[in-house]
Amino acid sequence: MSQGAVFLDRDGVLNELVLNRDTGRLESPLSPAELRLIDGVIPALARLQSAGYALILVSNQPNFALGKCSLETLSQIHQELVTELFDAGIYFARYCYCLHHPGGVTPGYSGLCICRKPSPWFLLRARDDLSLSLRHSWMIGDQPTDIQCGRAAGVRTIQITAGIERSGPRPAGRNAVADHCARDLAQAVEIILGDRAN
Ligand SMILES: [Mg+2]
Ligand SMILES: [Zn+2]
Repeated sequence: MSQGAVFLDRDGVLNELVLNRDTGRLESPLSPAELRLIDGVIPALARLQSAGYALILVSNQPNFALGKCSLETLSQIHQELVTELFDAGIYFARYCYCLHHPGGVTPGYSGLCICRKPSPWFLLRARDDLSLSLRHSWMIGDQPTDIQCGRAAGVRTIQITAGIERSGPRPAGRNAVADHCARDLAQAVEIILGDRAN
């Protein structure tokens, strides 16, 4: 059996969303100091790793494209994440970031791109490069675009609901139906490993 992967969104799944005081919304961290892993994430990732899944991050990070932070800051936040995971013995096979935004202001990073979720491009590329079986793979995210991305790639999907509940109602009409909902990553991992045992 070829290897399955668990594709993971970052903000709101691995790390806490951060309250932006200007907008009143929960958003991505804007500095390494603001990156805080959600409780239970490390043991949950360790369980997936032990079960043989390739862990692959798939994250839209448009803040440089939008002129809200530097590329270096995005890189530092990424390095902080990698360090925390490495210290805990967690190894990701790949980190896929889309740095673009259709309404961005930064030349070279603005306009349409092929990689921004809900595009399944990163998942399909990882499948080809790493010989993954998408039939045995999952996508976990907290936004409708994560679920659309997973469905477009033909993997099963789990939507994390904890952050969404805290950030209030969403605009209607953007929903995609996930195969499962879970409160947090730990509960999502229960679903994945429970499915495998059947
Ligand atoms: Mg997210
Ligand atoms: Zn992109």
